[in-house]
Amino acid sequence: MMKPDMIPARPIARQAAPRWQQLWREAVRDPAELFGLLGLQALSDRLSPAATAQFPLRVPRGFVARMRHGDADDPLLRQVLPLDDEDRLVPGFELDAVGDGAALAGAGVIRKYRGRALLVATGSCAINCRYCFRRHFPYADETAARGQWSEAVAILANDDAIDEVILSGGDPLSLADAKLAELTDALAAIPHIRRLRIHSRLPVVLPERVDAGLASWLQGLPWPVTVVIHANHANEFNEEVDAALARLRDAGCLLLNQAVLLRGVNDSVDALADLCERGHRAGVLPYYLHQLDRVRGAAHFEVPDDRARVLHRDLAARLSGYLVPRLVREVAGDPGKRPLA
Ligand SMILES: *Cc1c(COP(=O)(O)O)cnc(C)c1O
Ligand code: SF4
Repeated sequence: MMKPDMIPARPIARQAAPRWQQLWREAVRDPAELFGLLGLQALSDRLSPAATAQFPLRVPRGFVARMRHGDADDPLLRQVLPLDDEDRLVPGFELDAVGDGAALAGAGVIRKYRGRALLVATGSCAINCRYCFRRHFPYADETAARGQWSEAVAILANDDAIDEVILSGGDPLSLADAKLAELTDALAAIPHIRRLRIHSRLPVVLPERVDAGLASWLQGLPWPVTVVIHANHANEFNEEVDAALARLRDAGCLLLNQAVLLRGVNDSVDALADLCERGHRAGVLPYYLHQLDRVRGAAHFEVPDDRARVLHRDLAARLSGYLVPRLVREVAGDPGKRPLA
């Protein structure tokens, strides 16, 4: 037996970081490396240094592996590659496209909708999506995004009209399990909260995130939990993603998908139908199909409203009713998403 003052022969091993955090750090950030992996060196001429500097390339290797080799028009690649299309300034495409600046109650709480409050839990994401309004969002000014919840929790506690908390970001599942537990422990003390919703792209872009630790955190939560994943194309699903989604369902979560309608990615009835059916195969029901937020640098992704309505109508003619997402747009100052169809 060891006496208390004896020094152990070997230092106690520090607990290794979870595998998903390691995969996170190993994401591809160098466009030249991405072109090498995909055999697309010719694309380097079209890279935008300005866009790369403003919102850098970042894409997990597992997501790159789902891209088609040698295909410059691959729908997954288009979502992450900072091309010179982004340099075009288009009137109407602004820095704060959805009016979040005005809706911020402070401390990372966004109160736009009745009954629901969105908590910007962190500014980080595992992937940088070119079409995302987050590319210009001033996360550094928001205290919840810096991991200090107390102010945000106080805002939620003081408003008993809020019965649903939506964890968003950034990507809330980019937080370590212990941080998530710290936050939900604080929320659990607020009696008027009845539902938790998590918006995350991680189950799709880094499915390893849904590990045993995350599952046990989810299982321990006192509310029904809805996870809204963000997949824009059927090719984003593979066996690992299916397994991650199955683990979320096993932990009791209801799974929904929201997609953004993106030119050159999913702007055909076939692509949208494949997405809805593939999601369903993984236990996910379609929720929203969003018209693009008009954010600076993303104009080349826009699908005109008339075309969006036709696509949506044709989709509804083809699929079971429950497989048809609602076509909506986020309008600054509106009390909810505005339906287009
Ligand atoms: C979309 C959104 C919500 C949730 O709206 P639902 O229609 O309930 O999905 C809440 N807060 C913000 C800021 C949103 O953009
Ligand atoms: S918030 Fe979602 S869409 Fe935006 S960059 Fe992060 S993962 Fe992509």
